[in-house]
This record gives sequence, C-alpha cells and structure tokens, in this order.
Amino acid sequence: MAENSVIVIGGGIAGLTAAAILAHEGVQVTLLEAHSQIGGCAGTFCRGSFVFDVGATQVAGLERGGIHERLFRHFGIDSPGAEILDPGCVVDLADGYPPIYLWHDPKRWEDERKRHFPGSEVFWSICSGLHDSNWAFAQRDPVLPIRTFWDLSQLLKAMGPLNFSSALLSKLTVSDLLKISGAHNDSRLRKFLDLQLRLYSQQPASRTAALYGATVLQIAQAPLGLWHLQGSMQTLGDRLKSSLIRDGAKILYRHRVVGLAFDSRDKKWTLDVIGPSKCSLRFQANDVVCSLPPQCLLNLLPSEEKQIKKYRVKLEKLPKPTGAIVFYGAVNRLSLKETLPIHLQLFDIDPGPLFISISCEGDGRAPLGQATIVASVFTPTADWCVLDELEYQNYKELLLDKIVRKLEIRLGLNPLHWIHKELATPRSFAKWTGRPDGIVGGLGQHPSLFGPYGLSSRTPLQGLWLCGDSIYPGEGTAGVTQSAFMACRQLMAERGKNITIPR
Ligand SMILES: Cc1cc2nc3c(=O)[nH]c(=O)nc-3n(C[C@H](O)[C@H](O)[C@H](O)COP(=O)(O)OP(=O)(O)OC[C@H]3O[C@@H](n4cnc5c(N)ncnc54)[C@H](O)[C@@H]3O)c2cc1C
Repeated sequence: MAENSVIVIGGGIAGLTAAAILAHEGVQVTLLEAHSQIGGCAGTFCRGSFVFDVGATQVAGLERGGIHERLFRHFGIDSPGAEILDPGCVVDLADGYPPIYLWHDPKRWEDERKRHFPGSEVFWSICSGLHDSNWAFAQRDPVLPIRTFWDLSQLLKAMGPLNFSSALLSKLTVSDLLKISGAHNDSRLRKFLDLQLRLYSQQPASRTAALYGATVLQIAQAPLGLWHLQGSMQTLGDRLKSSLIRDGAKILYRHRVVGLAFDSRDKKWTLDVIGPSKCSLRFQANDVVCSLPPQCLLNLLPSEEKQIKKYRVKLEKLPKPTGAIVFYGAVNRLSLKETLPIHLQLFDIDPGPLFISISCEGDGRAPLGQATIVASVFTPTADWCVLDELEYQNYKELLLDKIVRKLEIRLGLNPLHWIHKELATPRSFAKWTGRPDGIVGGLGQHPSLFGPYGLSSRTPLQGLWLCGDSIYPGEGTAGVTQSAFMACRQLMAERGKNITIPR
C-alpha cells in the first residue's frame, strides 16, 4: 500500500491545478487519472493529422490577473500561447437579422448591443455595475459557501462595500434584472440572453442567478476576455503538468479510483484503485482532493457510516446536469465561407443551439489549408441512458446527419467537402471522462445553487475536499481552477499554512 500526503483524483484542469498548487507548497502529492492522458473535458484527441478539442474550445482567465495567468506566474511557468478572441463569439439568432458580435473592446460592444437591443441600456448598466463589484470580489479570493470560521474570515476579507449591497440581489435571476430595467419585452434580447447564459450556466435567463449572469455576459470584453490557445486545449493541461512534475508530484495514468474509505483511528483515507491491466491497488493519504463530479461519490463512498449516510442524501438530491453532443469535423479551408468567426453560436430548435468552433490557419489543429470544426449542443442525459445498442447507434447516426446538415447550410459547405466527421454523445463523455451518464458542466447556476447556496468544497468528511465544475464558481476551465485554488487553501489552512498568490 502506497502512503501519500495528498491524493488528487482526476487529471482534468481542476485536479491538475490542485496537484500543481499543493506540490508547489511542498506537499507530497499523487494524482490518480483513469485515462491514459490528462485534460478531461479540456483535453484533445487526434484523428490522422487533425487535433480535436474534446469539449472546451475557448479559455477565460489568461489576461493579467486572470486566474490561469496568476497561477502560472506563481508557478514560474509561462502561460500557454494564446490570442485574444475578438469577437469572443458571434451569436446568430437565425431570425433574419444580422448576427451579434461580442467585441472585445467594451465601447465597440456597447455600440453593437445598442444597435441590436435599443432601449436596453439600463439592463446593461445594472449588469455592468454588478459585474465590476463581482469581479473585484472574485479577485480577492473569497471562499463560498462558508462552513467554518476560517471560511467566513476569507469571505469577509473579500467583501467590499458594494458586495454587501449586491448580496441583497443573490436570490434574483437575470429575468428579474430585465424586469427591473424595463427591458423584459424585448424578445430578441431575451433570446440572445437565453442562448449565451445556457453556455455558461446551463440555465436560461429566467433560471440564472443575476449575480452570475451579470458577470458571464461581460466575460468577452476588456479588461477580461476569451482566448484561443495555440496548439490545442491540451497545452493548458500540459503546462500544469510540467509545473506539478517539476515540483515533485506524481501522475499515475490508467488508475481508476473505485472506492474511498476513511479510517477514523489513524485519520487516513484508503483508496481502492483499478490500475493498468485491471490490477487492484490500494493507496492511503491524509487528504483526498476529488475533482470528479460529486455524484461520483455515491459510488465511491461506503454507505453504512452515519455521517457519510447524511452526506450521501445531500448528494442524491443534487439536480441532474445535462450532457453534451459534440460533432468533430474537418474540411479544406477553401470550402468555408471566408468571413467566418472562430466561435459562432447558432440558434436552432432541433437539435438545439449549436456552439461552433473553427480552427485558425496554423493554430496546430489542422494541416495548413484545412480546418477542424467542432460543434456542440446540450442534451438531457436521460434520453441516452435508456437506449439499447441498436437504438443508440441509430439515434447517433440521425443526430450526426442533422448537425452536419445544419453546418452545411450555415457554413456554406456541401456533403463532398467533409474530410472527417464523427459524433460524441453523453455515452462517449461517460467513457472519456468517467462522468456518470456523461453529465457535463456542473450543477447549473440557479439562484438556489449559486455561490453561498451551492455545494461546498469542504465536505463534512474530514480530509475530503471537492473541486471541479460543481463547486463555486462553476464550470469552465477558469471556474474549475478557482475551485481548485479554494479547496487547496482550505486544506493548507487546516495544516496551519495560508496560501496567497499575487494578483
Ligand atoms: C462540450 C463542452 C464544451 C465546453 N466548452 C468550454 C469552453 O469553451 N470553455 C471553457 O472554459 N469550458 C468549457 N467547457 C467546460 C470545461 O471543459 C469543464 O468545466 C472543465 O474542463 C472541467 O474540468 P474538471 O477538471 O472539473 O473535470 P473533467 O475535465 O471532467 O476532469 C475529470 C478527470 O477525472 C478523470 N476521472 C474520472 N473518473 C475517475 C476515477 N474514478 N478515477 C480517476 N480519475 C477519474 C477523468 O478521466 C478526467 O480526466 C465545455 C465542456 C463541454 C463538455
């Protein structure tokens, strides 16, 4: 049995960040990853000479002071090469009007939205005020939700006067802000907000917490921004990996954790693991940082003990997140319409709104003269769980054809243009990332689950910490990085050390 100070479960961006932070603090860390590569939902896979981003295709938090940049500076590792996306995205509401460009320059974006949504400036200025105070708050590294005096002290340190007043809005939704500002009758604005918010919060405007929505609706604009990584999304995970390996941590690939048990006598966690060639292994650690969706714990934790039983009930009650269908295709660049943006969101009823990402010439994803096209749409996982193999394959084929047809119409392609096409479903995500039923994107950002009301990184079980997209502040590589940082700060504070990272 191998003894460790901390075991991190999962080598997606959350687990890699947690392992890198702890290793940099001199902690003995082992990261157990079920797959043969790191990255999870922000990883990549190859098909011939094409490199496809599995899930995430754009990154926030790489600007100076952004969470990824801050951590790379702290580790003394260069941030991955990236270009700011301008526009961050183009949103096509498929309503016969020109699409909406999310420009990086705030003034240009203001002019754009005034053109598309006249009379909505009160709404946007409320969002802007909330966004400024939220962002200053996030920069001061709050801990949410609070479970101990230490958590409370960190929260109070992060609160400015404006945060006390905006906290009063914590139960409002983005729809409430529309009503307050008198913009609720603008159906085009509503459609735009529903589309954008679903990307970040899994919820439409009527179910997205106002404080969360106000921030993500301005994530593409300076001084923040969305970034396109050179090479592929894998470079983000690779940089974290080089940091944690340099600092003495270990990554064990093809090590799937299948059981977790706490021995209250010697205060250690024991992890049952299926290793390479299906061998059974056991690891022990004082602390465990679990970056898997918390629903995984239902299969990992024993069911008998009283305290665990209570926690299991809480986990069982968590809402079921959605899954994703992702199309991966490749074409010759010449067959694409020339003016296409890198990221395009396209309203569609069936199969649903598509988020389309097209590789840039020379960005490492396709040979020169060719391009990869990744298009994703959310789907309820329950639809996929009930199908037998034949039904599954038929449904998958049907959806592939549907998405291909939509892309051909919007991107000006014809069936002969495709060099490659394939589809991933929730079942593929379950296999690739170990996420139960292929759920992605965390718990959603309904006011009842947002910030102070969400699931805590500090579990009631001693030495078990959570991070990832179900933990504050939520999904996205920047969000899960912040959650990992928060969990590591809590863990180290229990060991008597405060981690601070310069802004
Ligand atoms: C289609 C799609 C598009 C997205 N687009 C964007 C985007 O453009 N920008 C953005 O910022 N975010 C985007 N996201 C969200 C983002 O990818 C995720 O929020 C983030 O990558 C999640 O990271 P994680 O480390 O929490 O989890 P994961 O990435 O799921 O990592 C978990 C890791 O744990 C491993 N694992 C699972 N079970 C076990 C086990 N039992 N034992 C050991 N290891 C295990 C998995 O193999 C995996 O490597 C997108 C997500 C999807 C699905």
